Amino acid sequence: MNITIIGTGYVGLVTGACLADIGNNVLCADVDSRKIDMLKAGGIPIYEPGLSDVVESNAAARRLDFTTDIEASVAHGDVQFIAVGTPPDEDGSADLQYVLAAARNIGRYMEGFKVVVDKSTVPVGTADKVAAAIQEELDTRGRADLRFSVISNPEFLKEGAAVEDFMRPDRIVIGYKDDEPGREALGWMRKLYAPFNRNHERTRVMDVRSAEFTKYAANAMLATRISFMNELANLADRVGADIESVRQGIGSDPRIGYSFLYAGTGYGGSCFPKDIQALTRIARDNGQNLRVLESVEAVNEDQKRVLTNKVLARFGDKLEGRTFALWGLAFKPNTDDMREAPSRVIIDALLRAGAKVVAHDPIAVEETQRVLALDFADAPGLLERMSYSSAKDPLEVLANADALIIVTEWKAYRSPNLERLKALMKTPVIFDGRNLYEPGSMKDSGVVYQGIGRNSA
Ligand code: NAD
Repeated sequence: MNITIIGTGYVGLVTGACLADIGNNVLCADVDSRKIDMLKAGGIPIYEPGLSDVVESNAAARRLDFTTDIEASVAHGDVQFIAVGTPPDEDGSADLQYVLAAARNIGRYMEGFKVVVDKSTVPVGTADKVAAAIQEELDTRGRADLRFSVISNPEFLKEGAAVEDFMRPDRIVIGYKDDEPGREALGWMRKLYAPFNRNHERTRVMDVRSAEFTKYAANAMLATRISFMNELANLADRVGADIESVRQGIGSDPRIGYSFLYAGTGYGGSCFPKDIQALTRIARDNGQNLRVLESVEAVNEDQKRVLTNKVLARFGDKLEGRTFALWGLAFKPNTDDMREAPSRVIIDALLRAGAKVVAHDPIAVEETQRVLALDFADAPGLLERMSYSSAKDPLEVLANADALIIVTEWKAYRSPNLERLKALMKTPVIFDGRNLYEPGSMKDSGVVYQGIGRNSA
């Protein structure tokens, strides 16, 4: 099948590479010529485990190519995936300008039947707007005879495991319009995804609006579990309970399950924060307040400050002359994505309170330098107290540190050599935002240890 992917970011590149890998001819388009030049030269603009191999082998087999030529990209694909960004607008609603620009380009250049697939996360009703934008262009061209249908096919991949998630999806949600072009488009989608359904049927076919809603509902449920546990963890700290024991105690109930019950420094990334905001905004626009989700967001904002509050409670408000080692910058392991990463809030508080920060991350250092330059545009001098390492040995950043702050649970942080850690640090104090260690064994080793909700304050 000839497939075009519009928007070659995290979702677009993974989707394009994986669809090429199962034998389709895929053309990935983007307006960012630096990204496309890099991909054409054999580079990968993002870090995602396994992705470079899939991109490389399919590009070599000529099933995967990249372009900035929008007209050529519209001509190429019978199926046109829209996978552009949908960042939050000032009022929290999803900004649809990129989605609608992509739609208009399709209308401007298409010459035959097109299946237009919304892969981006978009508010309920967006498929109608996409269809209207395409139709408007066709009418302007006097080509109202050309047929198309808009499908909603939200993406559920997780950064850090994106290739694996795409290749072995829990479910494939397809929303279609039950008319003649819609049924034809559904036929194309079933054929495209058939290789993913060999073991068992994973496709959930529904109407377009329900498909659009499903994506927001899934992220809202996951974010709710996180904020729920974070709030209980903070209470556990006050009443002397251990949230890890509580997690295991409730996770064993099959109605609850173990997933997404870890207390931590709050959720970040490119999806949860913006999708929760967008869904609450959609509700407000429709005369309803989603009170649970409004609290989920407020709890998460506070949670990003829990670690620094613990630091300030121990060392005081003025941190001049103090050095803090920080493990983990990316919003989660196995990615270099720094969008809404809790580490940014923590670094901001520490630098503005006068501290030095020595940060380690295996992958995200370069991206961190880029985003911090923007975060500190008002006070670039503060960044002189920030240094970075991506060394194989994360203990290297501990020399003379007053405390270690753990923000992201990279594998390399799981079992540090505590004797070396104590020898390197000025004082062996750990603030663990990911609850990686057992408070009891840390105490036995002579390390002052504070997790989140671990009765260890
Ligand atoms: P991204 O920012 O990494 O990539 C978007 C790309 O689209 C950019 O490269 C940009 O240059 C390009 N673009 C913008 N306008 C364009 C146009 N008119 N024509 C061609 N290219 C254009 O974004 P992402 O993280 O891949 O997210 C894309 C969508 O998928 C969003 O709606 C997001 O919510 C959703 N999503 C993301 C994830 C994730 O983990 N990142 C998971 C599921 C769903």
